[in-house]
Amino acid sequence: MNRLYYEEGDVVTLKKGHPCGENLWKILRTGVDIKLACMGCDRTIWMARMDFEKRVRKIKEGEKMVAIVHHLPKDASNEGE
Ligand SMILES: [Zn+2]
Repeated sequence: MNRLYYEEGDVVTLKKGHPCGENLWKILRTGVDIKLACMGCDRTIWMARMDFEKRVRKIKEGEKMVAIVHHLPKDASNEGE
């Protein structure tokens, strides 16, 4: 099973956007539940971590959005296997 790497402050897109029309979310809190803020209207939502991992699609790396499955932790190069 793939592990997903994300942390507080990351910007992600989900399978479905917010009803306001935006589909950019900022991760405010991680844990058993994930707290997300819609970047279109600043509304915040809580989502179970399992639901979040099913719905998350892309994550912002620098200026571009990349598929989360291709996103590696920042220190990956130090922990090669
Ligand atoms: Zn919104």
